Amino acid sequence: MKDKQVALYACGPTVYYFAHIGNLRTYIFEDILKRVLGYNGYKVKHVMNITDVGHLTSDADTGEDKIEIGAKREKKTAWQIAEFYTEAFKKDLKLLNIKEPTIWVKATETIKEQIDFIKTLEKKGVTYKIADGIYFDTSKLKDYGKLASKKKRELKAGARIEMVPGKKNPTDFALWKFSPSGVKRQMEWDSPWGHGFPGWHTECVVMAAKHLGVPFDVHCGGIDHIPIHHTNEIAQSEAAFGKNLAKFWLHGEFLTINRGRMGKSEENIIILNNLIKKGFNPLAYRYLCLTTHYRSKLNFSWLALKAAQNALDNLYQRTLETKTKYSENASCYIGYQKKFLDLMNDDLNTPKALALTWKAIKDERLKIKDKRELLLDFDRVFGLDLAKIKKPKIPQKIKKLVELRERCRQERNWRKADEIRRKIKDLGYKIEDTKAGPKIKIFR
Ligand SMILES: [Zn+2]
Repeated sequence: MKDKQVALYACGPTVYYFAHIGNLRTYIFEDILKRVLGYNGYKVKHVMNITDVGHLTSDADTGEDKIEIGAKREKKTAWQIAEFYTEAFKKDLKLLNIKEPTIWVKATETIKEQIDFIKTLEKKGVTYKIADGIYFDTSKLKDYGKLASKKKRELKAGARIEMVPGKKNPTDFALWKFSPSGVKRQMEWDSPWGHGFPGWHTECVVMAAKHLGVPFDVHCGGIDHIPIHHTNEIAQSEAAFGKNLAKFWLHGEFLTINRGRMGKSEENIIILNNLIKKGFNPLAYRYLCLTTHYRSKLNFSWLALKAAQNALDNLYQRTLETKTKYSENASCYIGYQKKFLDLMNDDLNTPKALALTWKAIKDERLKIKDKRELLLDFDRVFGLDLAKIKKPKIPQKIKKLVELRERCRQERNWRKADEIRRKIKDLGYKIEDTKAGPKIKIFR
């Protein structure tokens, strides 16, 4: 971390379908990390890859390329599929207020560098060729798999045994896969070893090293990357460069649904658009993610999302109030800011930082003006768009109905007043009767 610069690599999406909200949870965690580094005064060089070739349906180097499956499914070319879902992914990031990486890099743009890298590994004597492709010999490394616990490693190895004929060790992985004979792949390239395409684990090492050097500061990804993908990135880096790829490895836990995994093969995925169609603000999902620490599982339910939406609406409302009210009290602004920084620097403790925010909102000792500044300051990390919140414009029609209801109430015509209240609710607004008169709010 020289000159307050941080080099950060985050494994990006495989663009064969929409990212599901479980995938997006990892990107939210990485965004919080990036914002916290920024909050601490670091400049972050953030590289994210787009895996547009080489990620097979099975991590055991078998199965089909996910992009080619997408192409068949949608009767488009592999290139069109990659392009379409890359754009969809970028749109999701925007909706979730996730800051774009400094550099986007596609696997298909770095094929030459990947071939050169495999040549280097070949020179180091850690590769071998079988009918299926060029493989990395994991037995050549003393401490292969140190990132994952031994138990996990054995489990995975057991599951992967005998998957590819000719593999020397169950944990060996493909660096370059040959195109199957008689099959014309849509994405394939010439190489010194034969026509084919790179392996997913090679892609990430090459793209990260190209843009950030080795070792760079922080490598992120989902927890599912630990036993194979990241373990194999480390193995290649140590063999090629004699050092670990990154100084720190940070992984986000799973989002579960009904306490189980969310995944395309489980046929239970929810995408961001599903949330929006149900009337949720995408930032309510961001809020929900902040309520749980990134290294803990988060179980998704519509009820939990609804609660997050309510909390976010409430936060917006309270933020708006800091604009209109003013009172002169003693201020303990600085104390809050320091606590916030301590919590975020303690392994990104977003749940406690949110609790602190609510404490500040309710703290009568704080000046309203300071409260506002504090909220906007915290939001540099939370990314919930607090500064953009405007008073909702209440349509004239609703205002008229509210006036009419007030008249009915004065005339003690409660039945009619209730009827109008229901009508207002049907139109998406609710009335709160206060001492100062009725308040109109948007009803969700
Ligand atoms: Zn990766």
